[in-house]
Amino acid sequence: MTEFASRVKAIDISGIRKMFESAAPGSINMGLGQPDFDTPENIKNAAVKAIAEGKTGYTNNAGIDELRAAVARKLKTENGLSYEAADILITAGGSGALHAAIFSLVENGQKVVFNNPGFVSYGSLATLAGGIPDPVALKPDLHLDVEALKEHFSDKNTKVMVLNSPANPTGAVETKETIKAVVESAADYGVTVLSDEVYEKFCYGDTEFVSAGTFGDNVVTINAASKTYAMTGWRIGFMAASREIIDQAVKIQQYSLACPTSIAQYAALEAYTGDQSSIGVMKKEYEARRNLLIGGLREMGISVDMPEGAFYAFPKLEPDTVMKIVAAGVIITPGAAFGSKGVGYARMSYATSQENIRIALDRIRTVVK
Ligand code: PLP
Repeated sequence: MTEFASRVKAIDISGIRKMFESAAPGSINMGLGQPDFDTPENIKNAAVKAIAEGKTGYTNNAGIDELRAAVARKLKTENGLSYEAADILITAGGSGALHAAIFSLVENGQKVVFNNPGFVSYGSLATLAGGIPDPVALKPDLHLDVEALKEHFSDKNTKVMVLNSPANPTGAVETKETIKAVVESAADYGVTVLSDEVYEKFCYGDTEFVSAGTFGDNVVTINAASKTYAMTGWRIGFMAASREIIDQAVKIQQYSLACPTSIAQYAALEAYTGDQSSIGVMKKEYEARRNLLIGGLREMGISVDMPEGAFYAFPKLEPDTVMKIVAAGVIITPGAAFGSKGVGYARMSYATSQENIRIALDRIRTVVK
């Protein structure tokens, strides 16, 4: 029998995929964090053009210069962050940026702090990098507990915190005050904050998005074209950081990936510099779906907070109810897939049509009535 490396044996396959694999045919899929919109035409055309023009070879390890410059401009004008093109590493999605950042910064035995429940990758990447995942429970309102975080920062073994707002799986968006307090308190203890901003464009009502990097230079900004432009399969993201961090991270990328796909980089260049109207269209539709879903769940007596961003609802549902809902033909993800503190919840993605959401609500009603 093949003996595998302990770092890979120590992690498990994501519980999200498992639910998907066990679903009955004809199920409504509210399980995946994948926009159901198609990539906008202008972006697809840019990829076709790149192929026609033969832009199909390796690029610089850090990505094409035009895209790095475009991302730096985006960060300046939209996020109030001062980066130059050389401070940007183009990666294979937000996942590639998380990988490069965590592998660059985390030494064996150092802790990576993140919220629990939280996005599945943070803990597993920490483990793969030889670090120690250190999940910190969210408050009962599913927002960050700044006091608890401070305690974890004060542990001299803590190297990195991953901050994720708008958050997966809760849909919570942190206030400016909370983000400022987290960044400043991390700085007090020499902790680097990786700010995962992949859902930045999807904040609803008067909820405001703010980039953590505006509150200190101990922040690495991570984002992706994936959710913003419905480009999950193109695999383009980025990290923005001080030059010394980028110099290390590019080595990780060079030896794991060489470079992100050239064609997808030209498509992303069009995404970040071309017509931005598709974002508003998607946001408006997500917001309508959110209202439909939350209204429907509450009407059945299911307790659920109003998500302020991303495209997930995180209602209180016990594990056996989750299983019954999946058996009734609606794929949702048990909260336990996002950490121990997610037990008693489930994540429902509303990146699916209003028609599908109505059918899903009807099916759920048969389970909980
Ligand atoms: N960060 C969060 C919070 C996510 O939810 C996801 C994907 O679901 C990612 C990062 C990874 O995104 P990408 O597809 O760009 O790798």
